[in-house]
Amino acid sequence: MITDNHGRRVNYLRLAVTDRCNLRCFYCMPEDGLNWLSRAELMTYEEMLHSCALLVKMGIEKIRITGGEPFVRKDIMKLLSGLSKLDGLKELSMTTNGVLTAPHVAEMKALGIKSVNLSLDTLDANRFFTITRRDEFTNVMATLDELLKHNIEVKINTVVMDGKNTQDILPLVELTKDLPVSVRFIEEMPFNGDEASNRGLQWNYVRILEEIKDKFPSIQKLTDPAYSTSYNYHIPGHKGSVGIIAAYSRTFCGTCNRIRVTPQGTLKNCLYDDGVLNIKDLMRSGLSDNELEKNLLNAFNHRVKNGWVAERMRVEKTGVHESMATIGG
Ligand code: SAM
Ligand code: SF4
Repeated sequence: MITDNHGRRVNYLRLAVTDRCNLRCFYCMPEDGLNWLSRAELMTYEEMLHSCALLVKMGIEKIRITGGEPFVRKDIMKLLSGLSKLDGLKELSMTTNGVLTAPHVAEMKALGIKSVNLSLDTLDANRFFTITRRDEFTNVMATLDELLKHNIEVKINTVVMDGKNTQDILPLVELTKDLPVSVRFIEEMPFNGDEASNRGLQWNYVRILEEIKDKFPSIQKLTDPAYSTSYNYHIPGHKGSVGIIAAYSRTFCGTCNRIRVTPQGTLKNCLYDDGVLNIKDLMRSGLSDNELEKNLLNAFNHRVKNGWVAERMRVEKTGVHESMATIGG
């Protein structure tokens, strides 16, 4: 079991397997994409499996595969298959944009993947194109159908953006009437791959909730599961639920149980830090598992208290300007 220097349990890893993506969501990356990592900079699947096995042995119980878009990395199902066999791993899940996902859903189910986060910011095909700069709405909806058909728990991630999709908040809440999905509205964060990106937050979690309450006054607060990053709600008579994630306001740091590993192997103790060590480099330098474990434990003993402190302590003092595609969300 891993416990950090603030007494918080660390049992959840988010592993980003690539920075590449087949969409260009404007809140995540510029239209021309990023300076993609070279193959040599990426962790290999063998390195990912090796480090995940070690982390699971140390106390990680849940792994979420993310990116970039996980399905644009070749043979991603091989990695998932390897991870699904790790002794001690209690939960394997994914975050995907759904463009290429539908044909893999049956195999995901067979591997024991019970829950998928599907990113969907609008139910309108034209707005989808404006936000993602790609015409892929139909494929994403096909993935949603396929996930539901296979009884995989679906959490829809919706980034709320002033002037872009706030008219979609209520239709997305309506979706929970007939579908057993959890629609989670996320405050927009400044990770869009642009230095001059921090435009300030227009729609915080309070405003999002007010918008929903106005139309659905009977909405009820649910008890949030331990370590939940979302405030969760239910509208009587609806099959699904609604969540709000205060990702910019950072209200959940006190119970943060998660670490992140980027596609190039950088360990992040916090979404807002700029990396505390590089697992891939340590492995490639020939470090033994024992030594690697010591380095990891030392990093977990120096976790910052919250995302505000992490942001202040960044080595690069120019503020956050990386893309969420290199962090994984
Ligand atoms: N490509 C996959 C996808 O979109 O689901 C996985 C990676 S994506 C970086 C993970 C999550 O981060 C997505 O749900 C996305 O909406 C969210 N995200 C990306 N940029 C964001 C930002 N600037 N603010 C808030 N959430 C963001
Ligand atoms: Fe790609 Fe996901 Fe970023 Fe959109 S949010 S550009 S789908 S990585």
